[in-house]
Amino acid sequence: MSEIKTADVAVVGSGPAGHVAAIQMAKLGLKCVLIGPAHSGTDGRTTALLGSSVTYLEQLGLWNQVRAQGQALRVMRLFDDTGRLIRAPITEFDSSEIGLESFGYNIDNNKLVKALHEGIGDLEDLIEDQQFATSVKLEDDHALIDMQDGSQWQVKLAIAADGRKSLVKEAAGVEMRKWSYPQAALVLNLHHKSHSHNNSSTEFHTPSGPFTLVPYENANTSSLVCVVTPEEAEELKVLDREALALELEKRAHHLYGKFEILTQPQIFPLAGMIAKQFHGPRAALIAESAHVFPPIGAQGLNLSLRDIEELSSQIGQALGAGQKDVGAESILEAYDKARRTDIWSRTAGVHMLNMSLLSSIPVLQGLRTAGLAAAKSFSPLRKLLMKAGLDSPSRFSKVGE
Ligand SMILES: Cc1cc2nc3c(=O)[nH]c(=O)nc-3n(C[C@H](O)[C@H](O)[C@H](O)COP(=O)(O)OP(=O)(O)OC[C@H]3O[C@@H](n4cnc5c(N)ncnc54)[C@H](O)[C@@H]3O)c2cc1C
Repeated sequence: MSEIKTADVAVVGSGPAGHVAAIQMAKLGLKCVLIGPAHSGTDGRTTALLGSSVTYLEQLGLWNQVRAQGQALRVMRLFDDTGRLIRAPITEFDSSEIGLESFGYNIDNNKLVKALHEGIGDLEDLIEDQQFATSVKLEDDHALIDMQDGSQWQVKLAIAADGRKSLVKEAAGVEMRKWSYPQAALVLNLHHKSHSHNNSSTEFHTPSGPFTLVPYENANTSSLVCVVTPEEAEELKVLDREALALELEKRAHHLYGKFEILTQPQIFPLAGMIAKQFHGPRAALIAESAHVFPPIGAQGLNLSLRDIEELSSQIGQALGAGQKDVGAESILEAYDKARRTDIWSRTAGVHMLNMSLLSSIPVLQGLRTAGLAAAKSFSPLRKLLMKAGLDSPSRFSKVGE
């Protein structure tokens, strides 16, 4: 007979979202198990954590150790590099215009997970089970999770933080809308000795997608997300380091002078996915188990942290009202309802922006060009767009107040 262990909540998936969710649940006073293998430390990406994510990680007592690993983002610049007849002007968003010292920080994903892992510290209610879950059963009054070693966890609530191919989501029978893009992101980090990035990120909008440089570990290093066709990504990846550096320097219009490649390029195919609902019986879907979209405007993990914040708020309110069952349908329905607008609007916004680059439909191109031109010359609109990028629609009017 296999061993059955019990907890209030299981967070399945030990990526950045899973770590934050587990710490949050333990801080609500719940016994929580964080299920998933130790981080491999081989993720080549960085994550820009913006606005409300910073405030939230501060509240959880995690921000100082996360921030220490990153670089501040003070200015975001957009260049229209589509080569089309009618192009948008260069548009610059400066955090000081909305009274902020920075929009947030950009952090190496491996360092981010390491810092979050350290945040577990001595939280007594948080147990780690560093192996894969092999199956999940969602019953009326509990969730049962089978582990690789044959043991099982029985919990009141399973939180799906196990990414795009989530087992928990599958067990919940939640349908997904999925779509693909003819694009892949080539990701690497660069050294540019002669120029500082001055805490600015720069996004060139090219006809195949954005080419984005974001401050990395110090003033003279940047992380690159270069969105191109999957074939072109492969061609770039196999270039030798010097040839690749030269090619990227050209694509960056020599903005930071000579490039030296610091890390092995990695490729991430772009996809879109949204769950038709964000809960199932005894299950809450968060992060990439619920929503996936292209890396434009640094929105993915920021949106995921707002999922966790909302779920925690619903559970906290229910506990406060004397509810003992943290996986009760009423809590999960309230969570689902509260997340709809933010998740759908973010997914649609990123999709439209991406399609306006790829599309040969003049009206979409025109809208993007007109929008950026208006933002450049009209300060209230620029401020509104900055605030909208930093928080959910229901809260962004308060950003920078
Ligand atoms: C190129 C690129 C750049 C990006 N830049 C940004 C950015 O600047 N800002 C931003 O906010 N977002 C950004 N994103 C999005 C962001 O990277 C993702 O939202 C984030 O990494 C997803 O984290 P996660 O914890 O949801 O999922 P993952 O990191 O995929 O974690 C899932 C975890 O679940 C574990 N797991 C899977 N199956 C099981 C199982 N059966 N049992 C136990 N564990 C399991 C996996 O091992 C993994 O640890 C970017 C994405 C890309 C592709």
